[in-house]
Amino acid sequence: MLSFTYNGQPARVIFGSGTLAQLPAEVERLGLNNVLVLATPPQEEDAKRLAELIGDRCAGIFAGAVMHTPVSVTETALQVVKDKGIDGLVAVGGGSTTGLAKALALRTDLPQIVAPTTYAGSEMTPILGETKDGNKVTQSSPKILPEVVIYDVDLTLTLPAGLSGTSGMNAIAHAVEALYARETNPIISMMALEAIGALYEALPIIADDPKNSDARAKALYGAWLCGICLGSVGMALHHKLCHTIGGTFDLPHAETHTIVLPHALAYNAPAIPDVMKSLSDRLKTDDPARALYDLAGRIGAKRALADLGMPESGIDTATDRALTNPYWNPQPLEQAALRGLISRAYAGDAPA
Ligand code: NAD
Repeated sequence: MLSFTYNGQPARVIFGSGTLAQLPAEVERLGLNNVLVLATPPQEEDAKRLAELIGDRCAGIFAGAVMHTPVSVTETALQVVKDKGIDGLVAVGGGSTTGLAKALALRTDLPQIVAPTTYAGSEMTPILGETKDGNKVTQSSPKILPEVVIYDVDLTLTLPAGLSGTSGMNAIAHAVEALYARETNPIISMMALEAIGALYEALPIIADDPKNSDARAKALYGAWLCGICLGSVGMALHHKLCHTIGGTFDLPHAETHTIVLPHALAYNAPAIPDVMKSLSDRLKTDDPARALYDLAGRIGAKRALADLGMPESGIDTATDRALTNPYWNPQPLEQAALRGLISRAYAGDAPA
């Protein structure tokens, strides 16, 4: 008998090309009069454009967001929020900028409008990962979930081809793990397969032609659904490995996901025959893990952790750490098999 729990995350989503034009109306709809626009330093120009759109209701720009949401940066921004009497947050950027908006919302409960420019999907989750004194602490709260998300495909046209590919693979990883999550359900599975299919088709086109707006729209649509997957069900071995390996060796987030995903899927394959069948049907392949490895090659991504700077001695360190406080996983974690997985990902071999 079919039986499940589905937790929908409430969010208003506006999707399309040129949708940023609706930002002033959204600011007004939320009754905001003193908005702070957030960005990373390289995306300050985007922040200025949004500030201009918002006009009198914009009180300033904070273009200091950085990777991994350090608490020190959040505290600096929090002072700006207090000094300027800010009543709402607008974030334009990838997961790093969204992370800052979420960190501020957690402390102030200010409403957030997020305009994502990558495929990371953070805008769809009530989850925040912050770093303090080198340690990453992850927490979840309804205050963290943004109120409004404006997906404007035009904002993604400038995302460089390489980052587009790995950011898209990072998104696919959320959906793949949602398919075999302990709390998975038919709604999430439907979204996950739709998302994986959309990104699988769009990413090679974007790799060749980053300004292709149809492929960009398809990828952003897929990334949105992947974000819902990430925010709705628990993740497993793949995410545990990426957090462990990325955190221990300070490796780039999306690239690490891209390399590990085919191997994590191959590891879990024996325990999830139905998921592998659904993936095979959707991707039109006999071997979905191999197809994801080939996709990483097709989009020009690195496929070896060694090429990201992980030391060879890290294979044992990562194996040990992955076995400490493991996430739930469909396939039992076994030391030798896990070491084999990490060794292959280190060397850039095909998944086995
Ligand atoms: P990012 O936000 O760090 O962006 C990478 C770089 O690309 C930045 O310099 C950014 O300014 C630039 N950039 C982004 N969009 C651009 C565009 N359209 N054009 C030109 N440049 C652009 O990277 P990310 O992969 O989006 O986010 C990674 C971070 O998000 C990590 O810290 C990760 O832990 C976090 N994350 C959190 C969640 C969650 O649910 N809490 C989910 C996914 C990712």
